[in-house]
Amino acid sequence: MTCCVNNINKYVNDLKNKAFFFDMDGILFDSMPYHAEAWEEMAALHGLNFTAMDCYIQEGRTGQDVISHCLREKEHREPTDEEVWALYHEKTERFRAKGPVLPVAGVQQVLDYLHGAGAQIWVVTGSGQDSLLKHLNDTFGLLFARERMITAYDVEHGKPSPEPYLKAWEKSGLGKEQCFVIENAPLGVRAGKAAGLTVYAVNTGPLSDEMLYAEQADRVFHTMAQLLEYLTQDDNNTKK
Ligand code: CA
Repeated sequence: MTCCVNNINKYVNDLKNKAFFFDMDGILFDSMPYHAEAWEEMAALHGLNFTAMDCYIQEGRTGQDVISHCLREKEHREPTDEEVWALYHEKTERFRAKGPVLPVAGVQQVLDYLHGAGAQIWVVTGSGQDSLLKHLNDTFGLLFARERMITAYDVEHGKPSPEPYLKAWEKSGLGKEQCFVIENAPLGVRAGKAAGLTVYAVNTGPLSDEMLYAEQADRVFHTMAQLLEYLTQDDNNTKK
């Protein structure tokens, strides 16, 4: 028994020197279906050749970046800033009209476990809503702090650039081997790996696991319960 107690204590101490960088859409909030619906509605209204799958494949970019990227790739033209902002505004309004989004199943338990063990909990998102912090803390309890958030307002280049995750790593004060990215989207995985960090993907959407492995995800889980089970094992990477 003594040995087990010692092991647990060692683990708790270890997690105090770790940081977990949580993506938001599709990881903290089950918001991607609403984003995809709003995206399709906006595209249909403007006769754009965009599909829900574009929304998932391009997930991770800022909203404006997704629109600019898709107009170039699918409509073969360079958009104006005004057009991008108008489409972004409309998509955002349609997203908001769909009502409150719920947490991803099981993520509260992951957050509570890491928080209880003293790990740093961060949000690294391309979203830039002013009300984001309040919404996070209203939903998950007071686990999030503005100084541990990297949003669209904090970076020059959003995902898949490594900049958002590099910024979180720099602010964490920890080594790269002590920082772990939790992502659901291929471009988010790409950003985390380009920053030189370990990336655990939780595939909560319709894309294949292969798309996440193709971006060099270190592990791919299907549920938050699987991630939690992995994090609480004795022999995984978080206990280096
Ligand atoms: Ca995401």
